[in-house]
Amino acid sequence: MNFSPEDVFDLCLDRAKELMGSEKYNSWLSNASFRSFEAGIFTIGLDSEIRVNFVKHNYKQRLEELLREYSDDPDVTVEFTHKPETLSIGNISNSSSHELFSNYLKPAYVFDRFIEGPNNKLAFATAYSVSFEMGHSSTNPLFIYGGVGLGKTHLVQAIAHHIKDHHPDKTFCYISSEEFLTRYVAALMPNKNKAREMEKFKDKFRNSHYMIMDDVQFLAGKEGTQDLFFHLFNDLYLRGRQIVVTSDRPPHEIEPLEERLISRFQSGTVVDIKPPMLETRIAILHQKLRDENIRLDDKLVLYIAETVKSNVRQLEGAVNLLAANIRIQNIAINIDNVRSIITEYLGSSSRRLNSTAITSAVGDFFSVNPSALKGKKRNREILVPRQVAMYLIRDLTDLSLEDVGEFFERDHSTVLNAIKRVNSMMAEDSSFKRKLLDIRESLLG
Ligand code: ADP
Ligand code: MG
Repeated sequence: MNFSPEDVFDLCLDRAKELMGSEKYNSWLSNASFRSFEAGIFTIGLDSEIRVNFVKHNYKQRLEELLREYSDDPDVTVEFTHKPETLSIGNISNSSSHELFSNYLKPAYVFDRFIEGPNNKLAFATAYSVSFEMGHSSTNPLFIYGGVGLGKTHLVQAIAHHIKDHHPDKTFCYISSEEFLTRYVAALMPNKNKAREMEKFKDKFRNSHYMIMDDVQFLAGKEGTQDLFFHLFNDLYLRGRQIVVTSDRPPHEIEPLEERLISRFQSGTVVDIKPPMLETRIAILHQKLRDENIRLDDKLVLYIAETVKSNVRQLEGAVNLLAANIRIQNIAINIDNVRSIITEYLGSSSRRLNSTAITSAVGDFFSVNPSALKGKKRNREILVPRQVAMYLIRDLTDLSLEDVGEFFERDHSTVLNAIKRVNSMMAEDSSFKRKLLDIRESLLG
């Protein structure tokens, strides 16, 4: 199934409305609600026995047809209930054998396709063991961190795939913290069923055996969302459910993040992924080249692995560009051509994303001279853009706090403060946040 059962249900109701006409729909189905999807059976809640009897008699078949169509599963059936839904906190409806938000999973992100090396070995081993045994006290929660493009999403999605394929009795939800925030905000929107929307939202998580949250650093500064996450976290944790979290930095560097969440994150296993070493890059390249059906001799593979170093996504980008050149431009594979493609590729990514380029883009955006950003003045017109530049350099490059400090001739604590400051400004001021995201977007091209 490509959609979650809830999504299928919503799509089906929309279509039913079109087919039945709104008058009939409003009389019989407008307050139909999704209750559960278990063992191929959609249970739909209606608010009275009369409605249940009428709908069963008149619309069951059509609803089944629609549900089958949208879920792409010819065997699903429908049942109806008029029993009220219990909404108390901590209510666990019988576990259902579906995965939540699984439409975000990429088929290729499986353990079999994850190449191990010294710099990701521990993260791999822990993720793998968690996918067999959930909620073990030493690995719950599992917190995986590392820079962009190093395989965090791949690893945690591999856990989800593993559960799906090998433990169909277990449920999971995989969601990015941005998506979590968006859905939470949607559930808060004025709506006559607001309380129920919120409970439905929470239930998605409460019913999961595995809760996998990707890129948790985006919760920084979002107090309400953090609070909800904290409660869901505790609820799951106390019931021995497994929590897996990824972030681009270790728990204590996520700012501002509530102390209680930081210590929760630190209470299980915290493991990092570092950029891959040469041998790992070679192995990853071989896999990628095989996927693309490209044969390169070992010297060329070594050349690429030695040249494209910063992360796996970059390696993949290089191979994609190479593949495009070979297929579309029909270029011959030889060292000169490969070298010029790789040089061009690295040039285009590093030109955009080095400290100078970022500082100059920030300067342009705030209409201040970029060299002033590196200077000593501390008035607000300069200070804020300088902090933004520090923030973005740290965000978009692999430079450490020290490296960024060095660029601005300051120490790492100044950079850390700048990042904290920018995070809290973003949390307080949505127009500031939009500006920052615009600059970021333009830098990423
Ligand atoms: P992150 O979430 O850390 O930013 P991703 O998981 O999105 O990184 O990985 C970026 C790309 O690199 C993905 O296409 C992923 O499949 C690939 N990748 C990362 N690490 C590995 C690895 N060890 N073996 C194979 N592919 C990898
Ligand atoms: Mg990721």
